[in-house]
Amino acid sequence: MIEVQRLTKTYPGGVQAVKDISFDVAPGEVFGLLGPNGAGKSTTVGMLTTTIAPTSGRARLAGFDVATQPLEARRASSVVFQDAVVDRALSGRRNLDIHARLWGRGRERIGEVAGAVGLSELLDRPVASYSGGQRRRLEIARALVSQPKVLFLDEPTVGLDPRIRHELLDVLADLRAQEETTILLTTHHLDEAERLCDRVGIIHRGEIVALDTPGALLARLGREIVELRVEGDPAGALAALRAHGVAGEDAFAVGSRLTVPLHEHSAAEALAAMGAVPTAAVATRRPTLDDVYLRLTGDALAEAA
Ligand code: ADP
Repeated sequence: MIEVQRLTKTYPGGVQAVKDISFDVAPGEVFGLLGPNGAGKSTTVGMLTTTIAPTSGRARLAGFDVATQPLEARRASSVVFQDAVVDRALSGRRNLDIHARLWGRGRERIGEVAGAVGLSELLDRPVASYSGGQRRRLEIARALVSQPKVLFLDEPTVGLDPRIRHELLDVLADLRAQEETTILLTTHHLDEAERLCDRVGIIHRGEIVALDTPGALLARLGREIVELRVEGDPAGALAALRAHGVAGEDAFAVGSRLTVPLHEHSAAEALAAMGAVPTAAVATRRPTLDDVYLRLTGDALAEAA
């Protein structure tokens, strides 16, 4: 449904925002682009939604090339941007109605999309009276009116407080079960990627540095991790743990914190070997997507610091 081949964007002035990325998203799949601010997520979404011209490479939505068939590609897709587009002075229903007419959809579609995002009860109130989370849900309902084959959600929970954010995540999770839309969402929240996405592409400085299911990304780090805060030289401590055979190539240091995936070692063996390293705190736990992410991007961040 989404085909991205060697897509690249260099902005005037030479900023290489997206560097030669490739991925495919299957029909009905929820795909997450996960990365920190400035990683190139919005630029990628901009190219896929035809608002930013790629420097090279190609992308197709539902078979339509975004560069040579932009109208068809746009017709097959819908976007929820970070900035609000609904009219605050109008009711939710009126907002959806205007959009439905534009797309030649009937009233029943309004009922469907409002139900899908849990807004049925609020439709006749002016949008100005909606909470931030409700407004965001209306934006999503509006985007769904046209029954897009592909829905883009650019940082759907940005600016929402934690409780509202979790409410919206529930809505998105339900949506995923109800509608057959293929979804590409961007986020810098690891829990969102883990909870909502079938597959995740980790994007760092314009490049996709890992792409897999959340489960497979986690499995790379084994079942257990030892995390320690070292006193003194983290790089030296990491080297010492590697020399003792406890830490493998996938162990990493960010600041004074060492993260050591255990794989075949037991925690007891690891802790015994760690006697050699002066530590301030030690804990064992299961790996999270955070570890995967830091492993892939933290080393580079540390080098840059
Ligand atoms: P993200 O969405 O992951 O935060 P962006 O795609 O917005 O990342 O930005 C990627 C890089 O491109 C950043 O270094 C950003 O400063 C740069 N950038 C974004 N838009 C422009 C632009 N219009 N002109 C020049 N540089 C830009």
